[in-house]
Amino acid sequence: MSPGADDSGPEQPANYRPAPSSAAARDRFRAQRRRDTAPELALRRLLHARGLRYRVDTAPLPGVRRRADVVFTRARVAVFVDGCFWHSCPVHATHPKANADWWRTKLEATVCRDRDTDATLAAAGWCVVRVWEHEPALETADRVAEAYSSRTARRAPAGPPGYRPV
Ligand SMILES: [Zn+2]
Repeated sequence: MSPGADDSGPEQPANYRPAPSSAAARDRFRAQRRRDTAPELALRRLLHARGLRYRVDTAPLPGVRRRADVVFTRARVAVFVDGCFWHSCPVHATHPKANADWWRTKLEATVCRDRDTDATLAAAGWCVVRVWEHEPALETADRVAEAYSSRTARRAPAGPPGYRPV
């Protein structure tokens, strides 16, 4: 998921962004897609193949402008597929040299916003699963499926050993 448009520093107009300094920077802006990135699609395909059904690119909490990439509404599991550059992955984070201050502020704000989103969702009883775009989809799908089933298992009605709700 890419950062929203409302997280620029207070000293700059909301839509300010420096002109791309190079072809590489231009590519980076161009690659900032909101949804349907290759890692998201791969994860969704695997989850779907396991029979899981979910909503895509949806705000889990009504009235809170934070969208998750994959949302299980009833189980209250929100999945974010974080891009390595925008979300400062520990393995692939890079720090552009041109407009370095602007980038540092921007990327730090994105990470802050992520943690704030996590806290807000957790406070509302949601389970947050964050995966990096560089992680193999099979592994991330396992993690999401695990989170989903632990949430749904907990909600199953209690009964004596051997009891199976119909
Ligand atoms: Zn990475």
